[in-house]
Amino acid sequence: MHRVYLDNNATTPVLPEVFDAMRPYFAERFGNASSIHHHGQETRAAVEDARESVAQLLGCSAAEVVFTSGGTESDNIAIAGWVAAGDHVITSSVEHHAVLHACKHLEKIGCEVTVLPVDGRGLIDPLDVRPALRPNTKLISVMMANNETGVLQPVEDIGKIAAEANVLFHTDAVQAAAKVPVNVRQIGCDAISISGHKIHAPQGVGALYVKKGTRLQPLFYGGRHERSRRAGTENVPGIVGLGKAAELAKQALDRGDDRKVAAMRDRLQDGILAQIEDARINGEGAPRVPNTTNIRFDGIEGEALEIALDLKGLAVSTGAACSSGAVEPSHVLIAMGLRPDEARSSIRFSLGKQTTEEDIDFALALVRETVARLRTISPRYVKQEVSS
Ligand code: PLP
Repeated sequence: MHRVYLDNNATTPVLPEVFDAMRPYFAERFGNASSIHHHGQETRAAVEDARESVAQLLGCSAAEVVFTSGGTESDNIAIAGWVAAGDHVITSSVEHHAVLHACKHLEKIGCEVTVLPVDGRGLIDPLDVRPALRPNTKLISVMMANNETGVLQPVEDIGKIAAEANVLFHTDAVQAAAKVPVNVRQIGCDAISISGHKIHAPQGVGALYVKKGTRLQPLFYGGRHERSRRAGTENVPGIVGLGKAAELAKQALDRGDDRKVAAMRDRLQDGILAQIEDARINGEGAPRVPNTTNIRFDGIEGEALEIALDLKGLAVSTGAACSSGAVEPSHVLIAMGLRPDEARSSIRFSLGKQTTEEDIDFALALVRETVARLRTISPRYVKQEVSS
C-alpha cells in the first residue's frame, strides 16, 4: 500500500546520512567514552564532535551541552535540577506532559506552581508573566513551540522578564529545534531541551543546554559523566546520530529549507480550507513552526478520521491521549478555549524533511474524500449556514 507519513511531530525517520554516521559506533568503534585507552578515546572524540554540532545548532558553547536520553529527561533535569521544596515555578497550560507532570510532582513535594493561560490562538501573553512572579519564584518553564499546534511562544520577551527578575528560564525547544532558528543567547535562557527523534536522529537521545555557571542538581547519581550533570555511560551511537542530525539541520536552516516545508504545509492547509467546509485551523493568527498545522473538522471524531486515513495509507495524529480506554480531549486545545467536542474533532498534520509535493496531493485528496464520507454517517454534523 502507498503510505504517506505526516506525523513527524510524533517522531521522524532517521536520515540516511545520520544512520551512516552512527553505524560504526555499534560494533567497530564500541569503546566506553570514559575509558582512557584507544577504544575509549575514539568514542570520546566522536561524542565531543557531536557536542560541538549541537552547540552550533543552539548557538552555545560545547561545554554547555549535556547529552540525555531525550526530551522528557532534559525537561525533568531542568525542572527538578533547580527547584526544591518552598520554591515557586511558573509554567503554561499548553506545555508537554514532560513539563506539566514534572510540575505536578513538584507540588507534591511542597513547591508552588502557577500555570499561565493562553489565548484562543494558543499564545501566552508576556504581560501575564511579570504579575505571576513571587519573591520565591525560582524558575519559569515555557515551551518554544507547541507539539500539537506548532504555535511559537514569545520566549524572547519571557527571557527578558526572567533575566530582569533574576529567575531561571527553561524552554522546551523539542518541537522548535531544526524547524526554526533556536539561539540560546537570543532567547536569553538558562536551559533548553531538545530531542533526537524529532530532528531525524534516533529515539532515546536528547540534549539539554545549561548556561555556563548555572549549577543544577542531577536526576541520577552515579559516575561523573557529562561533567557530573548526567550520570550514566554515554549512548555513543545515539549521540553521534544527534550530532549529525544537528549539523544537517543547521545547514538546512542556513539554506532556508524551512521555507519549502512551510510552502508545502500551506498548500495542504489552504487546500483543506478551500475544499472542505467547516474546517478551521487551531492556532490561526499565531506564529507557528513551518511543518505543523492542526485542523478542526466540525462534526467528526478525530480518532475515527485518524483511523480511516490510516487504513488508506495516511498517518496523521490527534493530540488526544487515551487513558484507561477513554479518549481525553487534548489539554492544549482545551486550554485554547475549544469545547471538548471541538478538540476531539481536530487532527494534526506534521511534515518532515522527507515529505514531497506528491505526499501533499495524496493527503489532500484523501482527507477531502474521508471527511465527506464520515460526515454522511455522523449524527453530529450539521452543515453551518452561511449568514448573509
Ligand atoms: N517536549 C515536547 C514539546 C515534545 O513534543 C516531546 C515529545 O513529543 C517531548 C518533550 C518529549 O520528548 P522525548 O520523546 O524525546 O522524551
